[in-house]
Amino acid sequence: MKLSEIGEEGLISRIVQKRHLPSSAPGLVAGIGGDAAVISPESAGMLTLVTTDMLTERTDYLPHQITPYQLGWKSAAANISDIAAMGGLPTWTFASIGFRPETDVEYIDELYRGIVECGNRFGSILAGGDTNSVLGDAVISITQLGRVEQNNLARRSGARPGDRILVTGCLGDSLGGLYLLLRLGLAEALSASKNLIEAHFLPMPRIPEARAAVGTGFIRAMMDLSDGLAADLPKLCRASGVGAVVYAERLPISNHLCTGAERLGISAAELAEGGGEDYELLMAVAPEGVPSVTQAIEETGTRVTDIGEILPGGIAIELAGGERRPLKGGWEHFAGEQS
Ligand SMILES: [Mg+2]
Repeated sequence: MKLSEIGEEGLISRIVQKRHLPSSAPGLVAGIGGDAAVISPESAGMLTLVTTDMLTERTDYLPHQITPYQLGWKSAAANISDIAAMGGLPTWTFASIGFRPETDVEYIDELYRGIVECGNRFGSILAGGDTNSVLGDAVISITQLGRVEQNNLARRSGARPGDRILVTGCLGDSLGGLYLLLRLGLAEALSASKNLIEAHFLPMPRIPEARAAVGTGFIRAMMDLSDGLAADLPKLCRASGVGAVVYAERLPISNHLCTGAERLGISAAELAEGGGEDYELLMAVAPEGVPSVTQAIEETGTRVTDIGEILPGGIAIELAGGERRPLKGGWEHFAGEQS
């Protein structure tokens, strides 16, 4: 069945029927069915976080490569990762979608399943949104709310010279997956590296890791790596009015990326440096707090690596021989490609 056959009302009742949109939940005074969702305010000492992120067909994904479930998951994950970046917990998800009328209803079912499963995994509930038909490329826009204790709020702006720079997980897997997809097509890319393709399509927001990190009290600045280390580290440095050096040899690189990079004929270190859509956490940590932060994050089951340090000015990567050069790569949205 096509979207045009069931219409907007039909689609909404279908989403409700499939229990993607609850009519009640703790803290949700009124969900679907009114003109607006009604949510109880946070208790004293808690702040509300709001973030929004949009994925557009062809610009952000190729519809014949990503499944609708993966598309839903990735859309939600990008937003939940921004809540992690602030040290918070996700609470409510709002999803607005625009699809062509000839889209199969089952495709939209799967899209919502991905959005809802990603949210639920981290404690967030779908509380509303909008549906529309488009003539051209499809659009998925998620608005994500979250909560954070005032003293756990992390920003980009608190880094000071001497702080260590830590990252969770491994860098470059998602970009490695994307390059495999573009170069080989889906079937061959999957057989080359299922892990890299999954890293690209099913990123895992670092909520438990972020909560563990801010709980130590040693996080001076934090953000998530959505555009790649080369693009995102300068943002953190600008916000803090500092510089940084990272060491190429310390960048955490997975075995999967080494294998994939070999297949692509690209250096794994360059993929890790440019990166993009890894959704790992980038942190500036007070030097005396590095052991506590490392231990707290490792207890969640995720690795964490000290990749460099905050300096008074200038941003560089130091290569194996000791030579320093500017960071390369990273995603620039309006340029539309790796810059
Ligand atoms: Mg972000």
